[in-house]
Amino acid sequence: MKILIDKYGRKIDYLRISVTDRCNLRCIYCIPKCGVLQAVEEEMLNIKEIVSFVKVAFSNGIRKIKITGGEPLLRKDIVELVSCIAEIDSIMDISMTTNGVLIKKFASELKKAGLKRLNISLDSLCSDKYKKITKNGNLEDVVMGIERAMELEFSQIKLNTVIIRGINFDEMLDFVQYSVKTGTIVKFIEYMPSKNSLGGYAKKFVSADEMRLICNEKFSLLPTVVDGNGPAKYYSVYGTNGTIGFVSPLSCKFCSDCNRIRLTSDGRLVSCLYAHDWVDIKNSLRKGPDIDELTKLLFRAIVSKPANHSLIVQDNQMEFCSMMRIGG
Ligand code: SAM
Repeated sequence: MKILIDKYGRKIDYLRISVTDRCNLRCIYCIPKCGVLQAVEEEMLNIKEIVSFVKVAFSNGIRKIKITGGEPLLRKDIVELVSCIAEIDSIMDISMTTNGVLIKKFASELKKAGLKRLNISLDSLCSDKYKKITKNGNLEDVVMGIERAMELEFSQIKLNTVIIRGINFDEMLDFVQYSVKTGTIVKFIEYMPSKNSLGGYAKKFVSADEMRLICNEKFSLLPTVVDGNGPAKYYSVYGTNGTIGFVSPLSCKFCSDCNRIRLTSDGRLVSCLYAHDWVDIKNSLRKGPDIDELTKLLFRAIVSKPANHSLIVQDNQMEFCSMMRIGG
């Protein structure tokens, strides 16, 4: 069995695939200030193209796939795509990150297709605030989606919650309570700079350490281990079924353990969330997939993976990054 190791000795076994750049929400911290330029449909990789690349990635050591977007559930062939990836090999760990608005409708089909785990992005438990953050999303849709996913017993349901001071910082304890009540894993994520319309980044940023102190005011947290792809540090909430995690891309860079590469919906392989360059694989796929050439392109992306992300945090120097396009 092959293993992909980059020049810094990191094992790369995780591929995040953004399957669309369309989204049905307009989260204020995610959407770029300049608006969103969407790729035309023909520019997006089709199922056959994505699967051809995933086969090459799998045969070289990729074992975990995260389907992301945009909003992946907006893609009409999403269930078929999951099913085709699942067919590559039963040991493939396939998960999806979604805003959850459409999950109630798709959860059952996705589970049957082979989706193992779900991350649902949810930044407020209060309907009005949720509407404000997402620019018109309906909290009830997401909550019903989470309940449906729980009924179907996905092997893991994680909620992704980006904490922003002045926006949802005051809801942290409510989220811990939600984890206790439902048994879902709540993952608190540090807000990362991107070209969005929020402004005043430094004042809005909350470090994972500060988040943990807030949670500790009311709950006792015990370090625990949760299966997954990423660098979150997890804690069980003492005496309950609750589990929470903290992801700290800024306050505690975890690049030395980074195990991932990303594929955008228009066929670019990106080796770091904040990279400025990429390796195009669409041309190769559209010529008719050539395994040797695709393998070389995969290796080229891995070789270009930087030791660290070069994120600049000052307000007036935000680096280019469209989470919407690259999928977080
Ligand atoms: N639509 C899907 C979803 O909502 O999960 C997938 C795409 S979304 C861009 C992926 C993740 O990126 C979400 O959990 C979102 O909260 C996160 N995200 C977007 N902008 C962010 C930022 N500036 N800082 C931290 N996380 C961000």
